[in-house]
Amino acid sequence: MPTDHSYPPLPEPLVVGVYDNHTHLDPPPPSTGSGNEVGEGPEREQLDYLEQLDRASSVGVRGVVQVGGDVESSIWSAEQAAREPRMLAAVAIHPNEAPRLDAAGELDDALAVIAELATRPRVRAVGETGLDLFRTGEDGRAAQLRSFEAHIEIAKENGLALQIHDRDAHDVVIETLLRVGAPERTVFHCYSGDGAMARICADNGWYMSFAGTVTFKNAENLRDALEVAPRRLLLVETDAPYLTPTPLRGRPNAPYLLPYTLRFMAAHLGTDVSMLAAQITSNTELVYGTWDSEPVTAE
Ligand SMILES: [Zn+2]
Repeated sequence: MPTDHSYPPLPEPLVVGVYDNHTHLDPPPPSTGSGNEVGEGPEREQLDYLEQLDRASSVGVRGVVQVGGDVESSIWSAEQAAREPRMLAAVAIHPNEAPRLDAAGELDDALAVIAELATRPRVRAVGETGLDLFRTGEDGRAAQLRSFEAHIEIAKENGLALQIHDRDAHDVVIETLLRVGAPERTVFHCYSGDGAMARICADNGWYMSFAGTVTFKNAENLRDALEVAPRRLLLVETDAPYLTPTPLRGRPNAPYLLPYTLRFMAAHLGTDVSMLAAQITSNTELVYGTWDSEPVTAE
């Protein structure tokens, strides 16, 4: 059977709404084969971000944190969030971008742009930043670490949440946070650790944001972590267009598919979906503030 690359149908709406605290709705750059995966996949259907937000609203996904990964997408995120009530922004240079920029002598200028964007209204997080030892080897590690530490500083200076990308780098990420001091609200985006690491996060008050990966068949470690994580530290995300939850793997992901992951988590925890949604919504607003608390600037 050929792979279906079309967007899946809308799920049944949630009774109690939630927020997708990590997604990428920015238009993909023209295909350059850069480290930024957005737009990957030949026949991938594209939906405008407003259509995405409308679909999300219609199933109880009340808003999103739109996440940048380079200068361009971070500017886009900050600008759209300033006028779209259903969107807050996170800004950063992705750990896979940092070594390339550093080699070109452009990392400091890029970090200066992120520092400026972090002062804008409705930019409520710095991310995604962190370490990726899966896609970047030893050679890029120093640049990643320097970039990560600079992002932690920007988050602390502006009182913003930190969204961490941690791929195959649990120990170094934790060691760095403890060494330089983590921001007050620190989120492991697309949490990828096991139950033992969830205990470390819990001890430090770090949030664990679960993505569609928790539904994957071989992800026992994530389900262990979900059981260990205190409910007050749980968040949920799509990381769209990646990481589409089971049973829709292979098709594009979108914020309106968040209910699949939320329902899976509730079933696994043996709790009511609406109770879990209410808890996660309250957690999300503690981390990022509310979506509609500031005036939306007219254009
Ligand atoms: Zn992401």
